[in-house]
Amino acid sequence: MERARPHLSRRRILQGTALAAVPYALLPERRAGAHIPGPDHPLAEWRPANPANYTEANRPASHAVDRVIIHVTQTTYLNTLFVFENPRKKVSAHYVVRSADGHTSQCVPEADIAWHAGDWDHNLRSIGIEHEGWVDRPGYFTDVMYETSARLTAAICARHGIPKDRAHIIGHHEVPGTDHTDPGPHWDWTRYIRLVNAV
Ligand SMILES: [Zn+2]
Repeated sequence: MERARPHLSRRRILQGTALAAVPYALLPERRAGAHIPGPDHPLAEWRPANPANYTEANRPASHAVDRVIIHVTQTTYLNTLFVFENPRKKVSAHYVVRSADGHTSQCVPEADIAWHAGDWDHNLRSIGIEHEGWVDRPGYFTDVMYETSARLTAAICARHGIPKDRAHIIGHHEVPGTDHTDPGPHWDWTRYIRLVNAV
């Protein structure tokens, strides 16, 4: 979780320089040309984060994506969505997976930079997945959550050419400089990586 770094996309800069010459109505929509808002993952529900909580980009053209970062929410699934919708929270992740049934929401397009890693370099290069639960309550880590999350991570790795191994699928606690411990000692990495590779 960290503050936004001011970031001007090339598109915005171009729009700015064009303003004097082009009638406003002819300017493209805010996102036109980058990507269409909506889920990248076909099984995800689209529950967008407030745009104040992430940075627009045009990945992978603007920044290569080579990490998936695994998180645990430390609050409920629904509250996580509310936090991401609140422009004062300055935090987001691309996906949130629900414990009871694996239901998955996408909150930030994969082309954009979610604010989840607490480290700008890792935000730039990663997709963040939040899992409903608490690091000290292993009962939240259900079979269906592992399985649906593994399918999601496998699809992300396929889309971005990310190796399906522990060097590239990492926990939040492995981000340099973080004081976060998620997903914690009860997260079964051996099982998770096996599931990701079995897809
Ligand atoms: Zn985290």
